[in-house]
Amino acid sequence: MRAIVVGAGIGGLAATLSLRRTGWDVTLVERTPHFTEVGAGIQLAPNATRVLRRLDVLDAVAAHAARPSHVSFRTWSDGAEICRYALGREAEEEFGAPYLLLHRADLHKALTAAVPPEAVHLNTTVVDITQDDDSAYVTTATGERLRADLVVAADGIRSAARQWLFGKDEAVFSGTAAYRALLPAEEVADLVLPPLAAWLGPDRHFVHYWVRRGELLNVVAVFSTEAVAQESWTARAEPGEQLSEFTGWDARVLKVLERAGQVFRYGIFTRPPLPRWNVGRVTLLGDSAHAMVPFQAQGAAQAILDAAVLGDALRNATPAEVPEALDHYACRRVSAATSMQARSAQAGRDFHLPDGPEAEARNTRMAAHAREHRFMPVATAWGTDALDRRTEG
Ligand SMILES: Cc1cc2nc3c(=O)[nH]c(=O)nc-3n(C[C@H](O)[C@H](O)[C@H](O)COP(=O)(O)OP(=O)(O)OC[C@H]3O[C@@H](n4cnc5c(N)ncnc54)[C@H](O)[C@@H]3O)c2cc1C
Repeated sequence: MRAIVVGAGIGGLAATLSLRRTGWDVTLVERTPHFTEVGAGIQLAPNATRVLRRLDVLDAVAAHAARPSHVSFRTWSDGAEICRYALGREAEEEFGAPYLLLHRADLHKALTAAVPPEAVHLNTTVVDITQDDDSAYVTTATGERLRADLVVAADGIRSAARQWLFGKDEAVFSGTAAYRALLPAEEVADLVLPPLAAWLGPDRHFVHYWVRRGELLNVVAVFSTEAVAQESWTARAEPGEQLSEFTGWDARVLKVLERAGQVFRYGIFTRPPLPRWNVGRVTLLGDSAHAMVPFQAQGAAQAILDAAVLGDALRNATPAEVPEALDHYACRRVSAATSMQARSAQAGRDFHLPDGPEAEARNTRMAAHAREHRFMPVATAWGTDALDRRTEG
């Protein structure tokens, strides 16, 4: 059984590992000529780290991670704590896997190291995917045509495969963009920052957390904007731009933004939900299927869950059974991923409420929730075992 996975992002790498574990011969094709360190921080909740453990990569991933004891939600103007939730040992005991904070490059490196190099074709851009009753075919930019029983298009938010399968459909600008930066821990040591925090303000929120075992502080400063920003990990902000967007915020927020050396500006896009992700022997996975705003830190986690269910659905499938197995995969994943897309968008609206009665009501609601629950509302999704068919959402 031969599969081609298009795209070596977190989703494509996880899908490759998951399929290989169930006996598939997988070729992973990636258009970039070499794996580079792009992006900044990423949070991995227990629903994702549980899958990484099954894929035998959790130890390698966790070796580079920071493990937060808790998350603190704060108000923008004075940093008063609205509420806090447990993320450390308590979460690990409750959900059976840790909450990890990582540099994306560290995560990517750990996943890449688990894939045999001969299975990876770098510098290979896919320009078409076709199929007949017996096989699927991937055409590359050099004219090569690769045959497989299954093609997984994990080609990200700008997915071309999504158009080939379902017709024209573009990524949609979310009306938000983020300044992103990484600061050495010693540059912010005097600020005594919590391990993970989200400061909420009108039309903006500010998130920071430690990565790389606490050596670096990852900063994500999100703001609403009508100007469509470029979706890129490498687009640089103008010097000081981030400070003018956050004028009047608590002094600690401004100090972090002031001390950030290289700041990147990232336009946040989404993809509208699809009723199905698969056609015949070809399926979408990860951001190509369900790119969402990152305000529940669940985009990559959902891609990792897709990979787990994909491997499970295709276990023991014969070539003729692949289309039906893909139906099962999509059926088990579409509604959970779609509701996480909606939940993430709602979190953005809640975070960005204007000062006044609505924000006060939100803060009261959050504080009341935290008094009764040890874990954040999104944690209801962390306990769901993607491979337990009885608990799927
Ligand atoms: C600001 C921000 C913060 C985030 N924070 C979190 C977080 O804390 N936790 C979390 O779980 N998620 C988070 N996310 C979401 C997460 O980053 C994405 O959901 C995840 O990276 C998607 O992975 P993917 O593999 O589907 O796509 P990608 O990572 O985009 O990978 C797609 C790959 O396909 C390749 N490719 C594309 N087209 C072709 C082609 N034609 N031929 C060959 N290769 C191709 C690309 O080069 C790329 O390597 C965040 C997102 C943003 C924007």
